[in-house]
Amino acid sequence: MSTVYLVGAGPGDPGMLTLKAKEVIETCDVMIYDYLANADFLKWCKEDCEILYVGKKGGDHTLPQDKINELIIEKARTGKTICRLKGGDPYVFGRGGEEAEELVEAGIDFEVVPGITAGVAAPAYAGIPVTHRDHTTSVCFITGHEDPTKEKSGHNWSVYGQSNSTLVFYMGVKNLPMIAENLMKNGRAADTPVALVRWGTRCEQTSMVSTLENVAEDAAERGFKAPSIIVVGGVCSLHDKLGWFEKKPLLGQGVVVTRAREQASGMVKTMRDLGACVYEFPTISINPLENADEVEEHALQLGRWDWVIFTSVNGVKHFWQHLRNAGLDARQFGGINVAAIGPATANALRDRGINPDFVPKKYVAEHVVKGLLDLDIAGKKVLIPRARVAREILPAELTRAKCDVKVLPVYETTLAEESGAEIEKALEEGRIQYVTFTSSSTVENFFQLVKAEKVQDCPQVKMACIGPVTAKTLRDYGLTPDIQPEDYTIPGLVQSILDDK
Ligand code: SAH
Repeated sequence: MSTVYLVGAGPGDPGMLTLKAKEVIETCDVMIYDYLANADFLKWCKEDCEILYVGKKGGDHTLPQDKINELIIEKARTGKTICRLKGGDPYVFGRGGEEAEELVEAGIDFEVVPGITAGVAAPAYAGIPVTHRDHTTSVCFITGHEDPTKEKSGHNWSVYGQSNSTLVFYMGVKNLPMIAENLMKNGRAADTPVALVRWGTRCEQTSMVSTLENVAEDAAERGFKAPSIIVVGGVCSLHDKLGWFEKKPLLGQGVVVTRAREQASGMVKTMRDLGACVYEFPTISINPLENADEVEEHALQLGRWDWVIFTSVNGVKHFWQHLRNAGLDARQFGGINVAAIGPATANALRDRGINPDFVPKKYVAEHVVKGLLDLDIAGKKVLIPRARVAREILPAELTRAKCDVKVLPVYETTLAEESGAEIEKALEEGRIQYVTFTSSSTVENFFQLVKAEKVQDCPQVKMACIGPVTAKTLRDYGLTPDIQPEDYTIPGLVQSILDDK
């Protein structure tokens, strides 16, 4: 027997999804989703999940409601688990009630997973609590766009007008002049504060506050469009005092992250927390070796080396995978000196029980060599587990210092199978302000996927490079590195973007 889950996706901020909703998304066989449901969530669907978009943007319905109902029932009859994902809460102006009735009539089991509704979340992100003891004793959720085929309006304007209730209008931007007019006619003071919040809780959020008397004109002047929540009442006066989200330093700034997917999460999260609209565009794909015999052999005889130098988190991760496959663990490193080229690599080692003997102050190969020479590495036997293709400077310099160096490939990096079309479009539409590069290969691969002219055509877009080597590679493509941290780390890169703002 199939179950249909009517699921709320929350207002847009990906963090505003319930744990239960996530679980349903991860396990459903069929996903049927709406325009306002954050499409980022689809990445949690199972690989073989059937994903169907049914739209609904203003009046533009990809599928009319009766066809959506039919589709849900048709899919449910196949015995599969269905996630019907809607923006906000499914029962707040989401037509979830109608879909549930159809399911009952068809004899299909269903469950509801409530979501955080935009009418509460968008005002909260704009500094407006929908209730507050000093201002109101109730809150009213109202449609600003009644079913146009209805003969008689269901609105009771005199009730809205005469109460002190906070009024929250959904789908109301087009009818804003009519709404303001009716409220004033029915007793609300002309100077009652009104707020509009567009794309609330998302990095694109914008808001404005006006009064009933002026709001229609002000909103038109500012070109305020759907999807917006309109809030009427004294609570809107708290917007300036309690606003917090729109103060985020990178709010609305489009930032492209080009790191491999496995490595990008920390940077993506930091950028999102700062308010940026992050474009995850992994240019590098990290793959295990096809033949691991050589690595496992070295793992078994690690004691032959005086030093093992790790140059990336991935090097550590993959080397450990090979250790484990060979039935070994950190004890193999007993008596061997270990170096990490940067703080993240050092932490990856610490997580695995190894406290590195050396972490350089500056994180490029040249400084590593200098520091290692101070530790008497000259003439020693050195193993460098890393990607098959990487910069040769570290092994070359150590060889010059008479070390016996062995570069041991433990994983492969290849050009990611991504299309650059979405990035090119976002560049053209002016939605991108920063492109970040965290290694030379991110630069090289980026320009295999995105035409360099597309970036050259947008001089306002700033190129942020993690260090001098990456910056040089960028110059080879005829572009200027606008941002470069002194500290060649991801936090350093993020900080220099903040300093640029
Ligand atoms: N079920 C949804 C509402 C769907 S009706 C919920 O509970 O939130 C669509 C209307 O919701 C839009 O016209 C707009 O008024 C409002 N809306 C949805 N998401 C929004 C957002 N992120 N910011 C502002 N308004 C939003």
